[in-house]
Amino acid sequence: MKELKRNRKILIISLIVVLVLVILLFTLLILDKKFYVKEFKNNIEIEYGSEFKETSGDVCYGNKFKCNKVSVEVEGMIDTTKLGEYEITYIYKYGKKELKNKQKVKVVDRTKPSIEVEDSELLYCPNGIIPDYKVTSTDNYDGDLSSQVTKSLEEGKIVFSVKDSSGNETIVKKDAIAKDQTSPALTLKGDKTIYINVGGSYKEYGYQASDNCDGDITSKVVVTGSVDTKTAGEYTITYKVSDESKNETTLKRKVYVYKSSNGTAQSGKNIYLTFDDGPSKYTSKLLDVLKKYNVKATFFVTGNGKGYEDMILRAYNEGHTIGLHSNTHNYSIYASEETYFNDLYAIQEKVKNITGYTSMIIRFPGGSSNTVSRRYDGGTHIMSKLTKEVEQKGFRYFDWNVGGGDAGSVTTTSGVVNNVLKGLGNGSTYVVLQHDTKGFSVDAVETIIQYGLSHGYTFRAIDMTTPTVHHSLNN
Ligand code: ZN
Repeated sequence: MKELKRNRKILIISLIVVLVLVILLFTLLILDKKFYVKEFKNNIEIEYGSEFKETSGDVCYGNKFKCNKVSVEVEGMIDTTKLGEYEITYIYKYGKKELKNKQKVKVVDRTKPSIEVEDSELLYCPNGIIPDYKVTSTDNYDGDLSSQVTKSLEEGKIVFSVKDSSGNETIVKKDAIAKDQTSPALTLKGDKTIYINVGGSYKEYGYQASDNCDGDITSKVVVTGSVDTKTAGEYTITYKVSDESKNETTLKRKVYVYKSSNGTAQSGKNIYLTFDDGPSKYTSKLLDVLKKYNVKATFFVTGNGKGYEDMILRAYNEGHTIGLHSNTHNYSIYASEETYFNDLYAIQEKVKNITGYTSMIIRFPGGSSNTVSRRYDGGTHIMSKLTKEVEQKGFRYFDWNVGGGDAGSVTTTSGVVNNVLKGLGNGSTYVVLQHDTKGFSVDAVETIIQYGLSHGYTFRAIDMTTPTVHHSLNN
């Protein structure tokens, strides 16, 4: 019995002890409050240029039984437009309790550059050379990478590849065909149109040929034709070159061997009478005066003299030079090189149809020094271009160094005479500008001729050998 009683006592005491321990443990758990942080990443990467979103994780403050929401403050800045490593600090707060968590943020570029190939059908040389296709490549970080795209040939495909500065690589493979359809590029050194005085000499100015597939093929150029500089006439030299795929390019050079009626590099004092804007109803009278004194002049004609075209033929037949002024004489021809040359070729063609003569002597409407072209050329300094281009095409352009003033303030015959005589001196080349569309100006010509002949001047028509008179350019 005694034994039993004792055992029961031990049991009760044990129960009490366990109970106390359990209560103690619960109390400790309840009192043990802290921050609980879940799903927080210490290291993250974000894409260049993207928006940075704070990732504070799932945080609360409390114990095992009850966890309260906390406030979060963030310290630190991230510039996603600059690659690199940044650090952000999250500060969790609950009452006076505080916890700091640091996060490493790496701004990286993992976006591949783009590759766009413009040509729809890609050809490459039968010898394996890959031509320059129009390829553009852009990258979100590096920008334009077009010039860094490499290309190679792989089993009949062209492989384009490019890497950005972060090492992201894009590879594009395109079907391609081994075929060369591009004709060689052939260029002539020297002018395409050459003028030689009878008895002068002609030598080949040279040429150059290159091909997209075969490289420099200058040695394959075949030149045919010859020039007899003893005989006046029009000669054609033909240059022909073929590449390995039989693509052919042909160019021609025109050589005019001419007899200079006036001779070259004139000595003495020379007057070149020039008349612009005609023909007109006054041209016939002018030609009569010139004939009376056996004086040769130059007519810079336009296409506007309807009904007087026969005056162009008469002037030509009577030994005057027919120069080209403009077909329309509308200053809008200065809008572009194309509009200018369309107009020039139109008047050249008209003169040729009338006379059979291809004139290469020109005068720009308004002269090469004109500023009116600025109104039409969209700021492209058209005169600077045209003056070079006409010469490259074999034309010679003439301005003037003596003005009759008949297109401006002068409206009388005596006014024109005075202006012209005032402009003459002891030099060798006087290019006089008048207009045969003005009756009072035409009436001044006889007096000018009389003065010139009696003062030791020689009147000459302009030809390809006449020393040019050029204004300085203003556009
Ligand atoms: Zn004019």
